Amino acid sequence: MRVLITGVTGFVGSHLAEYVHTLGHEVAGTMRWRSQQENLSEVRDKVHLYDADLRDGTAARRVITDFRPERIFHLAAQSFVHASWSAPAETLSTNVMCQVHLLEAVREIAPDTLVQIAGSSEEYGQVNPDEVPIRETNPLRPLSPYAVSKVAQDLLGYQYFKSYGMPIVRTRAFNHEGPRRGDVFVTSSFAKQIALAEAGKAPPYLDVGNLEAQRDFTDARDVVKAYWLALERCEPGEVYNIGSGKAWHIQEVADMLIGMAKTPIEIRQDPARMRPSDVPLLLADPTRFREATGWEPEIPFETTLRDTLDYWRDRV
Ligand code: NDP
Repeated sequence: MRVLITGVTGFVGSHLAEYVHTLGHEVAGTMRWRSQQENLSEVRDKVHLYDADLRDGTAARRVITDFRPERIFHLAAQSFVHASWSAPAETLSTNVMCQVHLLEAVREIAPDTLVQIAGSSEEYGQVNPDEVPIRETNPLRPLSPYAVSKVAQDLLGYQYFKSYGMPIVRTRAFNHEGPRRGDVFVTSSFAKQIALAEAGKAPPYLDVGNLEAQRDFTDARDVVKAYWLALERCEPGEVYNIGSGKAWHIQEVADMLIGMAKTPIEIRQDPARMRPSDVPLLLADPTRFREATGWEPEIPFETTLRDTLDYWRDRV
């Protein structure tokens, strides 16, 4: 099968490319001329790379015309919540326009292609205590420009299914972590700071933001298997939560990583790491997805954190 992954050079895209390759399929991905290719080191010669900034509709059409994908995993996005506060217009235009260009190209050229849209738990935003764990039917009350952009992507997927009958499956994944996660994201940021301190390249502090927030963490290497199953077994037009069903305080993440450190590390509050409005608790009810696919996360969170720390130890 011909499988296209947009944003293949990113954290999740690279893990997905490796997984789809091991399943024996032909993999292509989109990147930009300035994209770092380090994440693809395991599969660089096995993935066909298209230089395609998807903010350009011509680029999207060229990829679909040339590769004729049978499945598309649409991961390309401005994916950093924090940056969306300082660049709201850029976040919205990138995330919405990239997807419109992709879906328009698919509609014109290969409308039967199965497409997965990578939505996010951030779409739920403000969740009331009696709404946890969160089901797909929960109201969407996004609390950041990034979250609004993901709601737009999600609903565009719905609209293209309804208007044109295109087989689109929408996923709302909760946090996923692991090696290659950008160092601006919480688990990776903590792991990198600790690796730097261990190596004597930074003072023995862990700078943190809001430690009270709770998140449902899954290893990205489990999530990419879920994405594959989403297109194998889920209903086009429907939306599915993907998560572990267990929430961790960010404080627990900090404590676990400090517990793995080879040197004593002290926690330090950094006001710059606080968001204007943070989502206090995101916890998935993944029942609908589990029933449709049989998927369960397999990698314990401790392993994810240890692998992330080892990843940074190799790089600092
Ligand atoms: P990354 O930031 O690691 O990867 C994003 C990818 O998108 C990069 O390859 C990036 O390329 C590419 N991209 C950005 N802008 C464009 C553009 N204009 N044209 C083409 N490609 C572009 O994110 P993740 O891998 O973590 O996330 C993948 C997807 O999953 C995203 O849509 C994200 O919103 C979503 N998601 C992620 C979650 C997580 O916990 N990781 C949770 C829920 C959803 P470049 O390197 O050039 O910037």
